[in-house]
Amino acid sequence: MTERDYDIVIVGSGAGGGAVAHELSPLIADGVRIAVLEAGPRLREEEYTGREVEMAERLYYDAGGMFTKDRAMTLAMGRAYGGSTVVYTGTSLKIPRRNLEHWGVPGLEFEDLDRRADKYLTANNVHLLEPDRINDNNRLFREACEKLGWNVEQFPVNVADCLGAGLCNLGCPNGAKQGTHRVQLPAAERAGVEVVTDCRVERIGDRELDVVVTPPGAGDRSAWEPGAYRVRARIVVVCAGAVHSPALLLRSGFGSRLPELGCWTTLHPALILVASHGQPITNYHGHPKSYYCDEFAESEGFLLETCMYFPFTTAKNLNGFGEQHSELLSRMDRLQMILVLALDPATRDNRVTVDRSGSAVVDYRISSSVIRSFVKAIRASARVFFAAGAERVHAPAASRFLLEARDLERIDELVVEEQFQLGQISVTSAHPMGGCRMGSGPQDSVTDCRGRVHGVPWLFVADSSLFPDSAGINPYVTVMALADRVAEGIRAGARDLLAVPEGR
Ligand SMILES: Cc1cc2nc3c(=O)[nH]c(=O)nc-3n(C[C@H](O)[C@H](O)[C@H](O)COP(=O)(O)OP(=O)(O)OC[C@H]3O[C@@H](n4cnc5c(N)ncnc54)[C@H](O)[C@@H]3O)c2cc1C
Ligand code: SF4
Repeated sequence: MTERDYDIVIVGSGAGGGAVAHELSPLIADGVRIAVLEAGPRLREEEYTGREVEMAERLYYDAGGMFTKDRAMTLAMGRAYGGSTVVYTGTSLKIPRRNLEHWGVPGLEFEDLDRRADKYLTANNVHLLEPDRINDNNRLFREACEKLGWNVEQFPVNVADCLGAGLCNLGCPNGAKQGTHRVQLPAAERAGVEVVTDCRVERIGDRELDVVVTPPGAGDRSAWEPGAYRVRARIVVVCAGAVHSPALLLRSGFGSRLPELGCWTTLHPALILVASHGQPITNYHGHPKSYYCDEFAESEGFLLETCMYFPFTTAKNLNGFGEQHSELLSRMDRLQMILVLALDPATRDNRVTVDRSGSAVVDYRISSSVIRSFVKAIRASARVFFAAGAERVHAPAASRFLLEARDLERIDELVVEEQFQLGQISVTSAHPMGGCRMGSGPQDSVTDCRGRVHGVPWLFVADSSLFPDSAGINPYVTVMALADRVAEGIRAGARDLLAVPEGR
């Protein structure tokens, strides 16, 4: 086994890991050695082909379809230099005060997090797209919400010179989306941080990590030769995401001292809804996600967002098979889409565990309150689609594959909870959160409000697993703001933390 020595090792290079790498990089000037170990590949520009199945296999865990334990839901998580920021859509919202205060983490102040979030809005070029860049799929949603009198807001997005290719979730082929792979990681590397890709951390022991570098697949060759490594580090920062961070710590044995490890997972379970218009609309061209409607966030627990997915993803999200399914898909250029996000509260029983081989298992039950939110969201979406002029709406949880405008009056009778059959309706998640929640002590959490693991002074967490409950909004800006706090705490204590003698 090859051995390596660093002062600080960061596991994962996504929203959290990228932010931490950049924030800690000034320490390099003081001789501090920092490495980021990332399980995914570092793709070359020409490898962003925009081909759906190929890119899903290159950039996602389980090609974007990791099942929850009961197989009622799939999870999409990025696996790459830049983590999920390579495949996210780039909608950039700051967590509202009421959501943060609901978390109730002692020492975590809204003003502090909000200021850090602003820093990333600037660094990652977040802005509103100009009106002439909004395509029909988005415009129709906004106009319909306005017609219905529902609050609708434009998403700020983090793009630079966006060509409107609509391929954000397959990795932007135009280098426009400003994830950590474009901003924080290259800056950290310029400062001297080493980023090792195709490098999976298997276990964390006492200030050392067991690591495997896999043979090259897609992307640049890893900086290290394939094989097994033991990496010593004085400080370890775990940023492997809300599924893989708790799984890594569980298989490393930290669960015995941290009873809450893996627990309190929330997912923002999502539905993709589709309607067809009588004529072609611009949907595939243009940024896919420009508006959201939060009219029902507090009262009914759901958000409606615009979206546009690719043929395979769209097909898998329609109920059933056969003629109607195929006919609807053949009208791809007439489809309007809405993404429903259910704002699921964290419960202790929804959790990440590991199987015998140490792999992550997401043991999550879609609750009856989430199903109620979904049913109300499907009815609301049908109203939006018809108000936008759609001819037919595919409404899962309806007794028919397609609803027509004349069905609108009876929408509450036609879309009912009894028809919402788990396992028959495609439910997905791209926002896993929790599992290493912040709090006051091991009795209620895994880390303190600066991401330090209770009772393990050299071990930190800095990613979406820190969330003690749902963010209630698209989460990546909050992940970066939290990671920024963790990095600041590490920098402030670096002298003591790094004072462990060589070869201890
Ligand atoms: C398709 C999609 C669209 C999204 N759109 C948006 C959006 O528009 N707006 C928004 O706010 N949020 C969005 N999100 C969510 C957002 O991307 C995540 O909340 C955020 O990236 C989470 O950051 P993270 O650091 O926790 O994890 P990630 O960014 O997922 O990074 C974790 C990294 O750790 C690596 N890793 C895991 N295990 C190991 C290991 N054992 N060893 C080494 N490396 C490991 C992974 O390969 C991965 O690269 C989207 C997500 C997806 C998947
Ligand atoms: S719309 Fe196209 S160019 Fe713009 S960020 Fe998304 S993939 Fe890149």
